Amino acid sequence: METQAWQVLDRAHYLHPFTDHAGLRQTGSRVATRGEGVYVWDTDGKRIIDGLSGLGCVNIGYGRKELVNAAAEQMLELSFCQSFFKTTHRAAVTLAEKLASMLPEGLNHVFFQSSGSEANETAMRTIRRYWDLAGQPQRRVVIARELAYHGSTHMAASLSGIPPMYTAGGDIPLPGIVHIKTPYQYRHGPEMNADEFGIVAAGWLEEKILEVGADKVAAFFAEPAQSAGGAICPPMTYWPEIQRICKKYDVLLVADEVVCGFGRTGQWFGADHYGITPDLMQLGKGITSGYLPLSACAMSDRVADMLIEKGGEWAHGFTYSGHPACCAVALENIRILEEERIVETAAAELVPYFRSKLETFVDHPLIGDVRSVGLMGGLEIVQNKKTRESFPYEAKIGEACSTEALKRGLAFRANGDTMSLMPPLVITRPEIDTMFGIAREALDATAVKYDV
Ligand code: PLP
Repeated sequence: METQAWQVLDRAHYLHPFTDHAGLRQTGSRVATRGEGVYVWDTDGKRIIDGLSGLGCVNIGYGRKELVNAAAEQMLELSFCQSFFKTTHRAAVTLAEKLASMLPEGLNHVFFQSSGSEANETAMRTIRRYWDLAGQPQRRVVIARELAYHGSTHMAASLSGIPPMYTAGGDIPLPGIVHIKTPYQYRHGPEMNADEFGIVAAGWLEEKILEVGADKVAAFFAEPAQSAGGAICPPMTYWPEIQRICKKYDVLLVADEVVCGFGRTGQWFGADHYGITPDLMQLGKGITSGYLPLSACAMSDRVADMLIEKGGEWAHGFTYSGHPACCAVALENIRILEEERIVETAAAELVPYFRSKLETFVDHPLIGDVRSVGLMGGLEIVQNKKTRESFPYEAKIGEACSTEALKRGLAFRANGDTMSLMPPLVITRPEIDTMFGIAREALDATAVKYDV
């Protein structure tokens, strides 16, 4: 079928996530057809370099047959297996054991779901149950951060610190969730040096704990580096200080590693990069490189032992918890990442190059701030570089820049006014050059359009 025919059917029947459908009716959707390496193609034959790894998930790139074979073999052998009623299966057990061996110390127990949102739901139910069983049911409040994104279910949307999420339906934010400022130095502490700012920003957690009452706080919930909000990467002093504060007040530390996990920060997990040991850690996206939906909520011995020893039956679970094909694909994905040393090679050979390319945008008339950790980068667009003033929301400059990039063959996402880049970890240096070349053309065209 021609592009237009697909667009007609798309408009008539398919509701897309996070989409202004009235706007989509004007433009029509791009119809993607296939992917290979870091590229995707559409029905018009246009090749697009995927600067976003899909949605921060396609870490090993598109088109790896080994993952397809792993899924097919598992489906032929055992296509589905429930694990509710004293049944288990090899793929889930092997994956749980593998994750326990890779994760920071003590995270020895894993619960599986299909999406990052569900993993965060599991984490929230676990936290509340943990404190009930620990005889401190008054510990109900969970502290999260502004600008964060943790998913689209009621609880995950409430944890998110993006107010438009709250008007998207449902009485949210749900009670018992409060937010603190994120360690966004460009906006919240540009006059400080980075180390000093990290300590000050961590102090916002302690302030909130004292304001709420330390005996009422259940957990602190955050991404190690915040992909939402546009690659908000804390200084190295931030997380150790956060961990110290959590220990001081016996607040559980929960790391949403749905994006950071599996190499994005240049280490296997964001917790490794920032040197922390969370009590719970959620994984998704890169766990299967996006080939099949799977997420995990890993728990420390302290938390899991409480559930196991005191909890009895826990009324929590999903039909697709530990789906055999998804677990088999995750195992194959991890095997490839390990055997091809993809994370280590990206850290040594690509991360410094990616950073040096990002830094060339410091002088661009539209760019106020350049941020990155590993292969997660952000270029923040401002109207006035001196005052750091942003463009008015209605100007939708980030969206305009994304459109310019897509026209030229690059998926380059606007997170508010910050342009995000997080390519597959298998990108090559020439492909990085292509990606940044198009990003610059898109920003130049946007500057002309907005008369900068
Ligand atoms: N957590 C983070 C940090 C995310 O970026 C996302 C999605 O982008 C989620 C959770 C939700 O994951 P999912 O879309 O798989 O539900």
